[in-house]
Amino acid sequence: MTTKAPERHEFQAEVKQVLDIVVHSLYTDKEIFVRELVSNASDATEKLRHNQVAEKDADIFDADLDLEIQVSSDEEAGEITIRDFGIGMTRDELIENLGTIAHSGSKAFLNALKESGERNDNLIGQFGVGFYSVFMVADSVKVYTRSWKKEGECYCWSSDGSGAYEIEEVEGERRGTRIVISLKDEYKDFAKKDRIEEIIKKYSAFVQFPVKVDGEKLNTIGAIWLKSKSDVTEEEYKEFYKFQAKAFDEPRFWLHFNADAPLEINALLYAPTENMEGFGFGRMEPGVGLYCRKVLIDSEPKNLLPDWLRFVRGVVDSADLPLNISRESMQDSSLIQKLNKVITKRFLKTLEEKAKKEPEVYNDFWSNFGLFLKEGVTTDFTHRDQLLKLLRYESSYTEAGSTTSLADYLSRAPEGQKEIYYLFGPSREAIESGPYIEAFKARNIEVLYLYEPIDEFVMSHARAFEEKNFVSADNDDIDLDAISPETESDKAEALAADASEALCSFIKEKLGEEVSEVSASDRLVGSPAMIVNADKGMTAQMRKMMKAMQQKAGGPEMPGMGGEPPVKLQINPRHSLVKNLAGLHANDGELAGLICQQLLDNARMSAGLLEDPSQMVQRSYDILEKLSAK
Ligand code: ADP
Ligand code: MG
Repeated sequence: MTTKAPERHEFQAEVKQVLDIVVHSLYTDKEIFVRELVSNASDATEKLRHNQVAEKDADIFDADLDLEIQVSSDEEAGEITIRDFGIGMTRDELIENLGTIAHSGSKAFLNALKESGERNDNLIGQFGVGFYSVFMVADSVKVYTRSWKKEGECYCWSSDGSGAYEIEEVEGERRGTRIVISLKDEYKDFAKKDRIEEIIKKYSAFVQFPVKVDGEKLNTIGAIWLKSKSDVTEEEYKEFYKFQAKAFDEPRFWLHFNADAPLEINALLYAPTENMEGFGFGRMEPGVGLYCRKVLIDSEPKNLLPDWLRFVRGVVDSADLPLNISRESMQDSSLIQKLNKVITKRFLKTLEEKAKKEPEVYNDFWSNFGLFLKEGVTTDFTHRDQLLKLLRYESSYTEAGSTTSLADYLSRAPEGQKEIYYLFGPSREAIESGPYIEAFKARNIEVLYLYEPIDEFVMSHARAFEEKNFVSADNDDIDLDAISPETESDKAEALAADASEALCSFIKEKLGEEVSEVSASDRLVGSPAMIVNADKGMTAQMRKMMKAMQQKAGGPEMPGMGGEPPVKLQINPRHSLVKNLAGLHANDGELAGLICQQLLDNARMSAGLLEDPSQMVQRSYDILEKLSAK
């Protein structure tokens, strides 16, 4: 016995405008209509649950219905039905909530609670526009609803989202709301079971009530980031990581924190065990999902964390976020910047604590993910100082394979040492067999060993740590004796000053334009010669890299970088080869000349500057030939 004919209502003028914005520009992805309706269903169910608890002897209609959300679809007909057994709506509430501009029944509910000194953090909605998103994809929408109050009727609200809606009294509805969406032809795909399941799993995986598609529950994992730490087991943390990051590995460690000020944040961040970029899988995409009260806003938000933290997985949930905002505008919002600041700081602090309390865990993390932190030093000025504390390098003091922090390095440095020394090379062996380390070893001055190309950029970008400049140990003007004298036992008899000066000018004459200067040096111990770097800001490797880049780009050459640039050569007046050479150049100028050339090439090789060894090989045969004829 249907009673009355359907009533037609015009939407408020402002609603028409809002509808237009919602349908055409507010949301980037059409699929979020599912998220909005499921969120509304969850809110309606939460309100019912709240009323059940708050009003003990409340007279609830259909009191024994399960509190769950049911989704079903008919692919053929292009229809989706989303049903809840929440509080439902009366006729007045239908008009107020679905026909008035930006009216949020949920916000009103919260305000009423607030007035009585209560709060409910489980409600999602508050802006009163999410519902309209359904008109992005629907031809027509029917909302069947029955209020939870004992006395009441059932209604059907329907609209095609253009100018008006109708309300009609119907019969036989159960408590709650049943929304039937008739999809536009071009969006009928959303009615595919797989598609709808995929969307619900993506956005609504953590909704607090069971969400079932054709009877099968999809949200099996809880929103553990909203719980307090003591209520979550290690197993749950691990399971959640695998679920959220779609990971195959175990989490290395995690950071779970809640903050109220300056923003309300619940975050659960994971460091993975495996570095997928290191495996050659290409650049990782950011993987910390952004949520507002358990509902996904963006699974890969771009600016939530700095780029160098792209390996971090997990969830950031902030109740302060507007749920109904497009992803584009979200990325630049000042809110995201604030979140970024708080979260990055906390994550770095966690790393610092790990390094202090569990050095093995940290060192292992460093060996897998250190590259990301180095990238941070070179690109992120804001966090540079914090990042520098996290750097770890092998050094002339550590065993092969173990590392030191910069702070520990400084704690060992002698009083007079005002700089931090490093050497760059392909391996520990290469650095230790080269000429540069000798003088430092002889004086017990520690040198950091850098093996990766990015390390030089780290040094040049950071410039200093605790006001001590980073200086490459192949640098020309390091006054080592001022820091610490050479131990006596290492001193061998040196060539007399005048003989050594004469030898230097002989070598300079033989090498001509290839060297800018030849001098005797007490920085060498076991090697006869080395090339020193006159440019404090740029090591030999960097010059080489820049040269290669220039050649590739075909641009004009930088001064001093064309061909082989002239270099500064230092010889070791204590080395017997040098002493012999001093005697030889007077007797056999030709052989001495060849040896000078060879000396330069060997020094170039140690400095990583010799690109084509063919000349050197030929010359060494010439030398051998001359020697074997003697
Ligand atoms: P919001 O969720 O931000 O409040 P919506 O546009 O999504 O805004 O919904 C508007 C209002 O409509 C809600 O606040 C709620 O009062 C009402 N509403 C929507 N869906 C339901 C539902 N399934 N059951 C009961 N009320 C609902
Ligand atoms: Mg909503």
